[in-house]
Amino acid sequence: MEKLLDILKKSIEILKTYPLCDYCLGRQFASIGSGLTNLERGRAIKTMLFMNACAQLRDGSGDAEILKILAATGFRAAAKSLENMGLETPEIKSCYICSGVLNRRRFNEIAERISEELREYEFKNFVVGARIPSDVREREDLIRSEFEIDTGEDIKGDVTREIGRILLRKFDAAVEYHNPEIVVLVDIFSNDYLIQVNPLFIKGFYRKLVRNLPQTPWYCRYCWGKGCEYCNYTGREYPESVSEFIGNPAIEFFEALDYKFHGAGREDVDATVIGTGRPFVLELKHPRKRYLDLKELEKLINEKAEGKVEVSGLEYSSRKELRLLKSLSPMASKTYEAIVEFDGEVDEESLKEVEEKFKDIVIEQRTPRRVLKRRADKIRQKRLYYVEAEKLDEKLVKFRIKAQGGLYVKELIDGDEGRTKPNIAEFLGRKPLKIDLSVIEVETPTLGHEKEGIED
Ligand SMILES: [Zn+2]
Ligand SMILES: [Zn+2]
Repeated sequence: MEKLLDILKKSIEILKTYPLCDYCLGRQFASIGSGLTNLERGRAIKTMLFMNACAQLRDGSGDAEILKILAATGFRAAAKSLENMGLETPEIKSCYICSGVLNRRRFNEIAERISEELREYEFKNFVVGARIPSDVREREDLIRSEFEIDTGEDIKGDVTREIGRILLRKFDAAVEYHNPEIVVLVDIFSNDYLIQVNPLFIKGFYRKLVRNLPQTPWYCRYCWGKGCEYCNYTGREYPESVSEFIGNPAIEFFEALDYKFHGAGREDVDATVIGTGRPFVLELKHPRKRYLDLKELEKLINEKAEGKVEVSGLEYSSRKELRLLKSLSPMASKTYEAIVEFDGEVDEESLKEVEEKFKDIVIEQRTPRRVLKRRADKIRQKRLYYVEAEKLDEKLVKFRIKAQGGLYVKELIDGDEGRTKPNIAEFLGRKPLKIDLSVIEVETPTLGHEKEGIED
């Protein structure tokens, strides 16, 4: 009995000075008795106080004071009793903390508006957040310190629980705190809300089957997209890009507003990507749809790209995997195929020697001249795993090269005027006239072990 009396005594003390609604009274004891809402707690406390007051009135050990206090908080049975006793019923005062904002009708009404908007989206989980004005918090803090209350919870809990409960009833979805598809931010005090639709992530591999196609839109170097004489008023150096071939159909498919393309590194604009392709993650912003057949999307992209770009292995992904892709892809090893035309005949014997010499060695590269404008001039050391050479014609050789991420392969072949050492051209004593480069394989960062594999 002792604890119950503590709760009741403290409650009546509070209510004497501060009229509180059921939610706000119950919330001061939120850590006592799980499975109850604060509305239920507050109501139960007021009910007990009411019954106790009635019992005292019956045996004459108390007066109607407590009934008046309860009636002033909106507790109807107390008002009714006073009326029956022919006593004056006090005016109902609004809750000292929330001014009466926390109430079922208001929760239902805002939840209805939220639901209406949410119906436009496909989702399986969500989370509700709440914004609470600081003056409300200040009033609650004042009561907590004045009455030494250490069993309360944050007022946010009442808003998120009530709205969450209603939404759970209306939608076939679960509450998800860590990675929600939808975040509903409720400001019950200004009767407003905000729906944040989190992005959808899709991963896969792309093959780029034509040369002179940049990975992402390449804007005109003179007008930066505005359009000028140089770019024929297109604003672009190249009219198309891999990311647009993938992103635009995906936007349509998922009814998203925008996309962001994240490739696991990028190839030169004139290099193709064949073989298994290059991993990428596509981030779709504000999608209305989320649970669609990715095989369909794959078909759609490949049809629209008309053989220029091909995607495969599309799967749903996450922001976590995107982060991993970004942190690991610079280190990921890559395999290339290079068809090289030399300025003179190359014999089989020297190609054998190239394979032996360029096996598991470290290549020293000064930043290539062609990228000096964008990159700092420094020396990089990158591991070269192997070079395989196949003579196609007198002066034509097909190389297959596997190297650590970040090695400039064209320069490994032509030497970049001695800036890359050792290099194949110098070793063969021949000058390459034409290098057609293709990426055959990009090592996929292993997912799931975030710490492993990160080294530099
Ligand atoms: Zn209140
Ligand atoms: Zn231009």
